[in-house]
Amino acid sequence: MKNYLPSNHVPVLGILFMLLVLVIGGITIGFLMHFIGKLIYLILFFPLGAGAIGGFALAQAIKSGKVRNKYMAIIFASLMGLIIYSSYFYFKYENFKNGVYETFSLQLQNSENNQQTAFSKDKLSDLILVNETGMKGFLGFIKYSAKIGVSISKVGRSSDRGIAIKEPWIWGYYLVELSLIAGLAIIIAADSASQPFCERCDSWYSDDLIVGYIPETEADKIIYALKNNNLHDVGSLISKFKLTAPCLKIVQQHCLNCQSEDIYLKVFKIEEKNGQENESKVLSGMITPEEYQKLI
Ligand SMILES: [Zn+2]
Repeated sequence: MKNYLPSNHVPVLGILFMLLVLVIGGITIGFLMHFIGKLIYLILFFPLGAGAIGGFALAQAIKSGKVRNKYMAIIFASLMGLIIYSSYFYFKYENFKNGVYETFSLQLQNSENNQQTAFSKDKLSDLILVNETGMKGFLGFIKYSAKIGVSISKVGRSSDRGIAIKEPWIWGYYLVELSLIAGLAIIIAADSASQPFCERCDSWYSDDLIVGYIPETEADKIIYALKNNNLHDVGSLISKFKLTAPCLKIVQQHCLNCQSEDIYLKVFKIEEKNGQENESKVLSGMITPEEYQKLI
């Protein structure tokens, strides 16, 4: 078995697709996080959800744009995390400005008669932000949010004031949220860009196809045979039918357009824990079509 070595090629179209998803997707997800979060904000769940949606959107761009470079995927997914989280704060900032305007503009109009037009939304919110934090604009709002902090309470217990996180811990909390968004987006996007690709046909390999199952008693034998490219008499050990755990599962991906390229093989160990089957990958790599014939 050989390791799969990606070409690391990034077509221009792939970059364009990823940029498009980054900007449009990132801002939209940030907006949804803010919009739904106004009603109820679930800690951990919201950042993870945002990261998953961002990661899947990027994965679509990676697939369509044929990006087979996981480092590029990691860079774009990190940027996706930053755009989602900063958009989320930006929409909160806009909301804050509207709130301030609605609350104070009427009072100011009454008290300063002809000068009401001089107090725009930005100017009004800056007055408060500078007073509270010494900074104006978006950065002033970030500092102001940190000063107020967040309070975490259990769902359905609005009377419970919960735990309040304030400065300096709030910066750690923000960092955790950003890491969750970017982290999940990175995992999903990098996995997508690491999928096997046929350079000859310029196309992705197929989805996973199950080759068969192997009883646990034969596990060492088949892993040894795969690692040493000696698949003479292991074909008979593979069952086409699902075996009960613990066992091994062999899965393949192949080029959908040609039969001449190597087959990508993955071996999973299936174990049963608390009535549920868990899969963990034990081996993966490329074998030639001739070697593959010995397995089936
Ligand atoms: Zn091919």
